[in-house]
Amino acid sequence: ERTYGVSSWGGGYFSIGENGNVKVSPDPKNPNVRIDFKSVIDEISQEGIQFPVVVRFHDILRSQVIGINEAFNQVIADAGYQGQYNGVYPIKVNQMREVVEEIVDAGAPYNYGLEAGSKSELLAVLALNTNLDSLTILNGYKDEEFIRLSLLGRKLGRKVVVVIEKYSELLMLVKVSKELNIEPIIGLRSKMTALGRGKWQGSSGDRAKFGLTVPEIINSARFLEQEGMAHTLKLLHFHIGSQLPDIRAIKDAVNEGARIYSELHKMGFALEYVDVGGGLGIDYDGSKSTNDSSRNYSLAEYVADVVYGMKEVCDLEGVPHPNLVTESGRAITAHHSCVITEIVGEIKADGARLDTTEVENEHVLLKNMRELYLSLDGARNLQEIYNDASEWKEQAVSAFKLRVISLEELGKIETIYWQILRWVQVQYRDVEFVPEGLQHLDFSLSSQYLCNFSIFQSAADTWAIDQLLPVVPLTGMDKAPDINCSLVDITCDSDGKIDQFIVDRNLQNIMPIRQLEKNEKAHLGLFLTGAYQDVMGDMHNLFGRLNEVHIFSFDDDPEDFYIEEVVKGSSVENVLSIMQYHPSAMAMDVKRQIDKQVANGQIPPREGVKWTDFYENCLEGYTYLKTS
Ligand code: PLP
Repeated sequence: ERTYGVSSWGGGYFSIGENGNVKVSPDPKNPNVRIDFKSVIDEISQEGIQFPVVVRFHDILRSQVIGINEAFNQVIADAGYQGQYNGVYPIKVNQMREVVEEIVDAGAPYNYGLEAGSKSELLAVLALNTNLDSLTILNGYKDEEFIRLSLLGRKLGRKVVVVIEKYSELLMLVKVSKELNIEPIIGLRSKMTALGRGKWQGSSGDRAKFGLTVPEIINSARFLEQEGMAHTLKLLHFHIGSQLPDIRAIKDAVNEGARIYSELHKMGFALEYVDVGGGLGIDYDGSKSTNDSSRNYSLAEYVADVVYGMKEVCDLEGVPHPNLVTESGRAITAHHSCVITEIVGEIKADGARLDTTEVENEHVLLKNMRELYLSLDGARNLQEIYNDASEWKEQAVSAFKLRVISLEELGKIETIYWQILRWVQVQYRDVEFVPEGLQHLDFSLSSQYLCNFSIFQSAADTWAIDQLLPVVPLTGMDKAPDINCSLVDITCDSDGKIDQFIVDRNLQNIMPIRQLEKNEKAHLGLFLTGAYQDVMGDMHNLFGRLNEVHIFSFDDDPEDFYIEEVVKGSSVENVLSIMQYHPSAMAMDVKRQIDKQVANGQIPPREGVKWTDFYENCLEGYTYLKTS
């Protein structure tokens, strides 16, 4: 039995049931609720929804929003901190309307707000964040239109904070707000010296893309003073990188930010908010360590370090405690969605075998290989057996290229070669120490399971930056795995693969799994895809967006659930249209060609109609493999 680290990275939401299926408990207030993924898969199939499918658990989103707000409110009360918590969700992490609406709804009692980093996001946020008591934070580079939109937000009575990323934005903001006679709320983003570690380390330091240097911060504040607008400067912002693995970086940044805030205060700028940005990490591999896929702290420790860190400096400096803003995105959304994909095939180096019975006039290389196989004996040095087999196989390939042996002979040599390697592997199955030269055997002999999805659409970061995402067989874990596999997707790209897995708390390039029967259906879950992966996917091979189901649990039945909404994924027509094709014109073209073949007797008329319909149906259909 293998656990794939589910309880370590699952955040309390995922577990393995006694029946060997993955279960989800989306609502921590209701820990008895344990929905079986097998039932979810069955329901999706019964509804006629094709895999791959994104499954969203809105209860998990709600729980994460409540969790961060309650954690801050609790620590603020315990610490006697005088400011409030005014968190915002950065929609770039997952802009799906249903996701943002759920977050806004769950956050309403806490005045939880939204953050936008581009004009399109700002337009969405202006429409969605209608709570006048919550913040709307605007980061990213801005043009005049962006600034006018922010001022529209002010006209609507919203607390819209324009965070200045570079000095020229401030000049533009002051000019436009005076022109329109609308008072802005201004934030300054500071370039930090505190370095975040991990994959997003470049977000701080002198070469950071965003933010103002110390002289620029001082000049900005003085410029506002000259313009009679010092009172509009309300927020200090910093962000030292996403997925911060080490709590020390957070402490460092909070300390530095608190010092800048205090000094500005003492210079006469009565800022009201300090925004510590995002960065709250996810323990993707469950190791609670400082590697790039983990974090060495809990939510409670993070919150305590922000609140107490700020309090300590402010008390020493004798300035008021500012309201605290966080822009956590990953931590809010990662757990709430997963991708269910079907295994649709197996690729194995020794998948096909030839009959290797001895025949007359065989080449000596084939004879040697067979003799080696027939003489296999555990008493011999296994490394030597492996070396001999490998050498003869290499020689066989050269001999084939030099026209010395036939294709059939090469095929037989390869067949026996892989039989020998399998035998060597079995000898080492339960041995603790495997010699270095043979350690790659498990990988070389493992299967590649072909899965119906695209890495580039559903797990872009595993391809782009080697981000680890947990992968787990959703059913059948009560039976011991008997083979190893890595995963490949259905794109025409050799990079479309996953070869990082969490197995018994370790990272491995293969994952143990049950050998599937011929035509057996098996589903894998790709977890923690709710942050960034859901929305960063690209159109590689024109696969497009996945079908989605939104799942809610019932309070009174611990195992029941319902699909509240189905969002259809991309059709072939959709993805072709994005690439400037005209699907209806294409259908007409193909029909004309079919009609021509009908006219000259190559296709019977009835069959012609069927081919025309078939082409049109495929245009309307799902982009992924049809498996049922
Ligand atoms: N705020 C800003 C300015 C960011 O650049 C980011 C992402 O890098 C975030 C918030 C969200 O960070 P996270 O997803 O780590 O919480």
